[in-house]
This record gives sequence, C-alpha cells and structure tokens, in this order.
Amino acid sequence: MPARRLDGVAVAAQIRAELVSRVAAFAAAQGRPPGLAVVLAGARPESEIYVRNKVKTVAEAGCRADLVRVDERASLDEALHTVQRLNADEAIDAILVQSPLPEGMGRDAEQRVFDLIDPAKDVDGFHPENVGRLVQKRPTLVACTPLGCIELLEREQIPLAGRTAVVIGRSDIVGKPMALLLMHRDATVTICHSRTADLPRVAASADIVVAALGRPGFVTREFVKPGATVIDVGINVLTSEADVHCFFGPDSPKRRTFAQKGSVLIGDVHPDVENVAGALTPVPGGVGPLTIAMVLRNTIAAAELRQAARAHRG
Ligand code: NAD
Repeated sequence: MPARRLDGVAVAAQIRAELVSRVAAFAAAQGRPPGLAVVLAGARPESEIYVRNKVKTVAEAGCRADLVRVDERASLDEALHTVQRLNADEAIDAILVQSPLPEGMGRDAEQRVFDLIDPAKDVDGFHPENVGRLVQKRPTLVACTPLGCIELLEREQIPLAGRTAVVIGRSDIVGKPMALLLMHRDATVTICHSRTADLPRVAASADIVVAALGRPGFVTREFVKPGATVIDVGINVLTSEADVHCFFGPDSPKRRTFAQKGSVLIGDVHPDVENVAGALTPVPGGVGPLTIAMVLRNTIAAAELRQAARAHRG
C-alpha cells in the first residue's frame, strides 16, 4: 500500500487561515500591521522564487511585507547597513535575509549578517541568542523549516514521544534545530551526516526519518523501516531527461512535467520510498509550504512579542 501523503499545501492553508485574526487584532490595537522585511542580495533565480512566495503569503495575510534588494556586487558593509537600518525601523517587526548571500561578500558574510539582526526581529531564528533559547527549551523565534516539519507531524497526529527519529543532515538552519525540536517532544533522536557509518542501517531503525541533506533521491527504500514516517526537506532540480527517467521510471507523469518545463523537482528521498513508508511528505507540496506559513507565524509572533516588551517597559 502506498504511504499516506502528508499534504503540506492543505496544512499550510489551514495555518494561514488561523493566523488572519491575529494579524487583524494586532493591526487594530497598534494602528499598523505586523511588518516583515525580506532582504534579497543578488538575483539568484531560486532565491527570487522563495522570496516572492514569502512576501506574497505574508502580504496576503494582511501584514506589511517589504522586499529590500541589495545589489549582487554590493559589499558586505552595505548588507550590514541594510540590516542596521531595518533593526532601527519601528514599523518592521521581522527581518529575513535570504541565503545564500553573493560569494563576493566573503565566506563569513552570512554569519556576520545573521549575528547583526536584532534577535527580537529574527524571523528565521538563526541569531545565536535564539538558537541558545531553543537549546534551553525556551524558544521564541525558531527556524521556519524545522518548525514547519514539527507542525506538520503534530497536525497529522504522528506520535513523537518515545519514538525514535533519525535526522539526516546537521546544518544550522535545518538539521540541528530539527533534532532539538524532536528531542523537546520526547523523541529519541540520532543526527546523521556525511561521515556517519552505515547510514542506511541507522536510518532504517527509526520510526521517523527526516531527510535534509540536499542530495536528490539519496534516501532509498533500504533507509526506511516499513511503516516509518518520512519527512523530505530536500529541494533539488533535475534538468536532464535521463535523470528524470532514472529516478521516476518510464511511466511517471513527471516525464510530462519535464517535457513542459525542462526541469523537475525531486526531494532527498527516492520516489520508491512511497512503497515502504507509512507516511511521506511529497516534493513539491510537502515541507516547502509549511516553511512559508512559519515565516508568517513568526512575523506575527515577533510583532506581538515586541509589542509586549514595549508595554512591559512602559
Ligand atoms: P546544507 O548543505 O547546509 O547541509 C547538508 C547536510 O547534509 C550537512 O550537514 C551534511 O553533513 C549532510 N550531508 C551531505 N551529504 C551527505 C551524505 N552523503 N550523507 C549524509 N549526510 C550528508 O543543507 P541545508 O541548508 O540543511 O538544506 C538541506 C536540503 O534542504 C537542501 O536540499 C535544501 O534545498 C533543502 N531545504 C528546503 C527547505 C524547504 O523549505 N523545503 C528549506 C531549507 C532547505
């Protein structure tokens, strides 16, 4: 029997609908809506799509959503000044800097930029203060993608407490916060990475597998215990017909998609896993929409928290 499909599009729509009244209440009380600024440095086509979707979703919920462009050839100092200006802007509650930053800004550019964002406006939860709060299980703003995965698991009533979970990938933006969020819900968590020995065997011991490594179709059926829940975070683009054939087989509708668009999206999980897993997120339409819904939720949360802090200060 094919795995139950965990429909990120439907769950994200439900979350967005629930948030509309919080936006309206904030706007009525403050005389302005919650405000998000999305900073895009350069013009990478994938980043343009991600940023457009985030701005559109947040604006449609009634928030202010500004796209702030920084030139591809700008210096790191210019990006840092942009963040400083947004930190000081009272009408902006949430700041998101789309990664990756242009290579010309230098190797440590992302860390320097993320470190400068006011932690109270850090909608992506990447600032060390917010990461520390998450580690100590007193989170305020948490990275949107892992937060969205948890939201999906909980709303789909996948039990976490006492279950075993394997997270493949140890990045600061997905793997590590994902592992912490699962652990805080009483799952027993193993983090795997590029140096993990016998990865298929380790993954196949888990009740829940989260694949966040950025390798198309890497997680094959031998990684998955029959009936396990599989969350596919990966977003990879196949641009060759041979690859589409190889991953999806000769009769897949994906071949028609490829003929129309010239490319096909695939996650980090191989399509065959559908025949082994108990529940599975599709790509596209799984984790991606949840990430964007969490950008909206964190924008509102940041606005409310800043307002509460102002009221506290008197
Ligand atoms: P990253 O490159 O920062 O980290 C990848 C991690 O995977 C590393 O920790 C590395 O150790 C591990 N890894 C790499 N190769 C491996 C291997 N062969 N075996 C085991 N582990 C291996 O990537 P990231 O930013 O964490 O993103 C991961 C994936 O998730 C990418 O495909 C990215 O596009 C996608 N992503 C999706 C969303 C979304 O909203 N759906 C958001 C963020 C990232």
